[in-house]
Amino acid sequence: METELIEIEMIEDRSSLAAMSAKARSNGAELVCRRCANAEEVIAGVLVMMEGSEIWALCGPCWRQLPQGSYIV
Ligand SMILES: [Zn+2]
Repeated sequence: METELIEIEMIEDRSSLAAMSAKARSNGAELVCRRCANAEEVIAGVLVMMEGSEIWALCGPCWRQLPQGSYIV
């Protein structure tokens, strides 16, 4: 039986990030870090939630704080 596990895709390659950033800008938004909301920091990665297609952008310092093998929920 399915539980409430959320599938998350981690995107950290430059070309994908650039594409996502450009898409956000075309919608009048900027990709800003979800954790610290520091617009000065360059986004180092994006977490894509498969359910609901929510995306979380994270800057370099926050991305490196992600525990290996587990995810923010
Ligand atoms: Zn951050």
